[in-house]
Amino acid sequence: MATNKNNDAAQDAAKKALAAVQAKKAAEKKKVEHTITHVGQESTSAEELLAITKKNATPYRIGAVVLWLLAIGFEVLAILFFKCVIQFPFTMEKPGWYAAWIVCLVLDLICVVIGSLLWKKGNHLDPKSAKNKLTFWLHNNLGLVMAALAFFPFIIVVLTDKNAQKQSKIIAVAAAVVALIIAGLTGYDWNPISQEELLESAGVGDHVYWTESGTVYHAFEDCSHLNHSKELFEGTSTTAIEQGKTRICKTCEQRAEKEAAKADTVVTEVEQTPVE
Ligand SMILES: [Zn+2]
Repeated sequence: MATNKNNDAAQDAAKKALAAVQAKKAAEKKKVEHTITHVGQESTSAEELLAITKKNATPYRIGAVVLWLLAIGFEVLAILFFKCVIQFPFTMEKPGWYAAWIVCLVLDLICVVIGSLLWKKGNHLDPKSAKNKLTFWLHNNLGLVMAALAFFPFIIVVLTDKNAQKQSKIIAVAAAVVALIIAGLTGYDWNPISQEELLESAGVGDHVYWTESGTVYHAFEDCSHLNHSKELFEGTSTTAIEQGKTRICKTCEQRAEKEAAKADTVVTEVEQTPVE
């Protein structure tokens, strides 16, 4: 009898705690009014989902490759100007000569950086498998490789140039090294996502929320990051991934973990009630 009483008391406490959490949630909900559009899930299997993510990523990947090719083109132009292979009246004299290859290096840098940002966006929409560590790293950080290709040849050409003055060589190498560092930092993916992680998070949530322009999905409609968004979309986490929201919001993730831990303690308390 005593056991039953203890169990009842623990269950009552758990019920009360849950009711309090729900009441708090309801109160918070009232703060922000959202118009929610339900979006249906397109894919039914992992293969179908991956076909959709691949399609989503393709324009970004094409854009990246085009920009990287342009970057190499500007590097070649920079080399040709530096070596005076291409000459215009204004590039015959010093200020114009400097300007010609520096402008080419700047355009080179802009193309590499935007290309790398597009490439990383593509990889987040359609991540590669992390089973092979080397190919996973190379694929995610191809922007870093491209940064090297976009500036190293120029640096080598400058350093081995016997006709150029020392001062011009120093300026050219310094400019290219700075550009190389900027391009390298933006080309590196500091927060990569793997296909395994993506598939793991697919189908985890039945009701998640996202915005048109966001890159993540939320587990809670009242997440503080959604306070300024009137229009929300709702669906399964798989649908969110199909829509290009490939990750759960960090705030929602931490909150879900906290709430799960809380629920766990309540359950354990009930379980740990001494049985006589
Ligand atoms: Zn959130």
